[in-house]
Amino acid sequence: RAKSLGKARHAVFDREMHARAVSLLQLENDLRRAVERQELEIYYQPIVSLRSNEITGFEALLRWNHRGHGMISPAEFIPVAEETGLIIPIGYWVLHEACHQTRIWQEQFPDISPLTININFSGKQFAQPDLIKQIDRILQETGLPGQSLKIEITESVLIENADLAAHMLMQLKKLGVQVYIDDFGTGYSSLSYLHNFPIDALKIDHSFVKRMGSNNDNPELVKTIARMAHNLNMNIVAEGIETIEQLMQLQALKCEYGQGYFFSQPLQKEAITALIQQSVFV
Ligand code: C2E
Ligand code: MG
Ligand code: MG
Ligand code: MG
Repeated sequence: RAKSLGKARHAVFDREMHARAVSLLQLENDLRRAVERQELEIYYQPIVSLRSNEITGFEALLRWNHRGHGMISPAEFIPVAEETGLIIPIGYWVLHEACHQTRIWQEQFPDISPLTININFSGKQFAQPDLIKQIDRILQETGLPGQSLKIEITESVLIENADLAAHMLMQLKKLGVQVYIDDFGTGYSSLSYLHNFPIDALKIDHSFVKRMGSNNDNPELVKTIARMAHNLNMNIVAEGIETIEQLMQLQALKCEYGQGYFFSQPLQKEAITALIQQSVFV
């Protein structure tokens, strides 16, 4: 009896494993086709100056509108793209498309200071030997000034390839491109270690911002991060601002920039154009 039970459990396990493998494979195939069918779309989330409340630029966030399954979150498909190497062509497309669109906005709204674009880079993308050449070419092709481009990488990407990363950052500096550390606080690095790299800004992960703004909580941790970052001449971008209380605390800590649903969700480019138009003509 025990034996047959064990067997049954084994069979269930096998089935689940199989189903998972099949659906992962399916996801990979679908993703490959999504690129060809142009089912991927970039959404843009405003990044706001916490001093002036003006939009300074956007973060490009990838969306996949799957024919059968509807919207699939990047948290789900970016890891698949990373594992299969599809992140390389996808990342190139995101970079080109977002730089192109940002240049269009700059030309459309010449009376505001030039809008900037933040692009997320995964580990594999950042490790491409010809990355600098690619970025240089895209800047030339789209006409976007290097100063308008900011690249977001996580601490682990930096630390796992420290030598390569140091070299990359130097090259990016030469193009005027800035480097931001994404999801800061969720990794293991210390700020003093990060200081060895030419980093322009830290994005404080939204898990920290989430804990702010309630009565029974103090923002000690964010306060410490902000003070140290400022001592090291880095700016702070707070992610995931959802309430006015959070905004006010972050302003009190002299965080330079913020993004979150309080200001705006990530939006399609047409909606962003309307948003800029509104903010210019009010
Ligand atoms: P991330 O770079 O840390 O992006 C911030 C995430 O927080 C986004 O999730 C954004 O939609 C979400 N968010 C913004 N404001 C709020 C808020 O007020 N509250 C809450 N709860 N969430 C907020 P999203 O768009 O699902 O992207 C998830 C992650 O996928 C990104 O995290 C980034 O690591 C990755 N990703 C997205 N697009 C790309 C891409 O083009 N290339 C690469 N390599 N990774 C990407
Ligand atoms: Mg990001
Ligand atoms: Mg982040
Ligand atoms: Mg994140």
